[in-house]
Amino acid sequence: MLNINNISFAYSKENVLEDINLNISFGEFVAVAGPNGSGKSTLIKCINNLLKPQKGNIELSGKKIGNLSKNEIASIIGYVPQYEGRTVPTSVFNTVLLGRKPHFSWAPAKKDFEIVEKVLNQLDLQDFSIRDINTLSGGQRQRVYIARALAQESKILLLDEPTANLDLKHQLEVMKLLKEISNEGFTVIIAIHDLQMAMQFCNRFVLLKSGNVYADGHHEVFTNEIIEKLFEVKVNIQTIDNQKIIIPIYKNDI
Ligand code: ADP
Ligand code: MG
Repeated sequence: MLNINNISFAYSKENVLEDINLNISFGEFVAVAGPNGSGKSTLIKCINNLLKPQKGNIELSGKKIGNLSKNEIASIIGYVPQYEGRTVPTSVFNTVLLGRKPHFSWAPAKKDFEIVEKVLNQLDLQDFSIRDINTLSGGQRQRVYIARALAQESKILLLDEPTANLDLKHQLEVMKLLKEISNEGFTVIIAIHDLQMAMQFCNRFVLLKSGNVYADGHHEVFTNEIIEKLFEVKVNIQTIDNQKIIIPIYKNDI
């Protein structure tokens, strides 16, 4: 239902994404990983139509995304950028309520308020609801933006490094929540550096290297060879309690 057909994207001359082909179904929880600058954020922005590929196209349930209006896209795709800095002063509650905007035309209804309350609870933000988001820590603010995307109830959720600013407890809570959402049939795509966290929760891994898909699959993509070539570090991958553990080795150069 999300088809990325042979897209290439360049900010100026050089391609930052090259001939990317991915077909992603409902209910998949996809981790996009790869070194800094490999094109993760660019890919996510192309899927969201914030950037338009020079070559290829992206289809949502068979419709070219370039032909959809901003509102139509917002009703299908929720997006949490990599980092949002200070904004105009607004309460946490109102920020999350904005996520309901594609669902109401003039004023929010009772149901919209109920959904906002539900996601505030899910993200452990109930005590912050009247706070100005600019007074929150980076991690708390990150959770507000995740809450806003969840309130949107879009079929596809794109999150760019959603756990980067979070403490361990909230990383786990966010990943668990995203997994539950994907189990309900929503598609969740995240850029993530923490491979261990990705392996624990995601069920598909797209590894990018210099704008190309270097590997795409389930846990089998995590081999010494692939991870070493991708990140240019030596690793030792072991299985403990049926779970792969990636141990970086600092001693020897490859
Ligand atoms: P990642 O999210 O994997 O770290 P990005 O998609 O942000 O990578 O960046 C991919 C490449 O595109 C990098 O080389 C980066 O420098 C370049 N790039 C990103 N954003 C811009 C921009 N707005 N203008 C020009 N180049 C950019
Ligand atoms: Mg990025």
